[in-house]
Amino acid sequence: MTNAPLLRDFVGGAWVDSRATSSCDVYNPATGAVIAKSPLGTRADVDAAVAAAKAAFPAWRATPVVERARAMFAFKNRLEKHFEEISRIVTTEHGKTLDESRGSVRRGIEAVEVACGMPSMMMGYGLEDIARGLDCDVHRQPMGVFGAIAPFNFPAMVPLWFLPFAVATGNTFVVKPSELVPLSQKRMHELLSECVPPGVVNLVNGGVDVVNGLCEHPDVKGVSFVGSTPVARHVYRTASHAGKRVQALGGAKNFIVVMPDADLDKSIGIVSESCYGCAGERCLAGSIVVTVGGASHHADVRARLVAAAQAIRVGDGLDPGVTMGPVIREAARQRVLAYVEKGLAEGAELVLDGRSHTVKGRENGFFLGATIFDKVSPKSAIGREEIFGPVLSLMNVPDLASALALLHDHPQANATSIFTSSGKSARTFASQAPPAMVGVNVGVAAPMSFFPFGGSKESFFGDVKAHGRDGIAFYTDQKVVIERWF
Ligand code: NAD
Repeated sequence: MTNAPLLRDFVGGAWVDSRATSSCDVYNPATGAVIAKSPLGTRADVDAAVAAAKAAFPAWRATPVVERARAMFAFKNRLEKHFEEISRIVTTEHGKTLDESRGSVRRGIEAVEVACGMPSMMMGYGLEDIARGLDCDVHRQPMGVFGAIAPFNFPAMVPLWFLPFAVATGNTFVVKPSELVPLSQKRMHELLSECVPPGVVNLVNGGVDVVNGLCEHPDVKGVSFVGSTPVARHVYRTASHAGKRVQALGGAKNFIVVMPDADLDKSIGIVSESCYGCAGERCLAGSIVVTVGGASHHADVRARLVAAAQAIRVGDGLDPGVTMGPVIREAARQRVLAYVEKGLAEGAELVLDGRSHTVKGRENGFFLGATIFDKVSPKSAIGREEIFGPVLSLMNVPDLASALALLHDHPQANATSIFTSSGKSARTFASQAPPAMVGVNVGVAAPMSFFPFGGSKESFFGDVKAHGRDGIAFYTDQKVVIERWF
């Protein structure tokens, strides 16, 4: 039994009860305590939110873009004012360290800052006298109601990849947060309610029914999704079948290639942070480190990675000095443990075993220690499937071409990195890696919000990626006006 509060939805400018008949417990993963309950909303909840967004659209579309940008400035100011509070909410609902939460909230604020520049970013183009006395202009116009569906791993940031671009271009919006981590979105919508008119932004709590409701609703023009590959594929198929624009960002298995000429003194800390940051629950996390070259290079990289992993301090993300928090749920912990068992059964060498890691005073938290496997086969489950936890696999290949072949052989392509001091190797890698997000001596190749974000193959379904110019293209239609005046 718990007296944790049942969350409400934000619809048409008011906090309202969900029509849900069941709910999902929201935990603090560091303590195992239930801190809230997320209603598992229904299609009727989606209908209400979409109706409110649809009703708000004509006036918001007609609001000059400078005023919409001003609303984003107001939102940015509130996010700055409540920066520390929101960061603490993220750590409490997700488990990542406070510094990691601060970094993610900062990234979200940067997306809002970019949207503050919408008056110049949304401009069309034109040409006079395309024929005698005939002018032609292209205008970018908002389309109506859009929805965003978020994963659990970046509760505050991921909706901000989308909402500021959609709203500043003149659309109205419905956010469905992950039912595992709905609290920071609740706080953000409280702040948004002070910045935009009722109905411009709406929040519906829930799971599968809300997702399917958004994907199939006739008044929703498009859907932005972030989550695992099977659900991304489902959202892409369902929403595109219903005639909507879709951008669906899926799961990942990210390779980091360490060349023999890499500066290991500078690189290993960055590689380790890529693998273990946010307890490995990042879509850009390094998951496989591929050493290129002879046995001594591999042994050196392995020994340094083990030392870096052993230096990680696991604990409650709110405690100073902690460098890795828990995973999101006990079920996620069990899933990662099952992968470690699989790795052993597949014949990989368990070099560092984090399975029995416990944290004093946090005995009910969902903790795991950093784990490393060596001699991992690219065909094995741990070499192929997304583990989404603090488990790193090592592989060794003779040359860069073999490393690139591993990347091309994998069905997903989200982020990949190379560590090298050779411009030629870096260029070859950047040019020939599958089209994803590529880092050169960078562990987490995350584009800032004025560039597009998204992978390829089974890590991305759609045409136009998240934020940057792609974000503006996704949320606007182009109108071509050809004019003659007699
Ligand atoms: P998930 O796919 O389980 O859930 C994502 C969203 O889909 C949630 O809001 C959830 O309520 C909903 N959902 C879950 N199952 C559904 C179903 N059967 N039908 C309809 N909707 C459903 O993902 P998650 O566990 O919350 O997040 C982790 C995943 O997200 C990882 O695979 C990670 O790589 C991926 N991710 C990708 C990116 C990226 O940019 N590509 C970024 C962050 C996370």
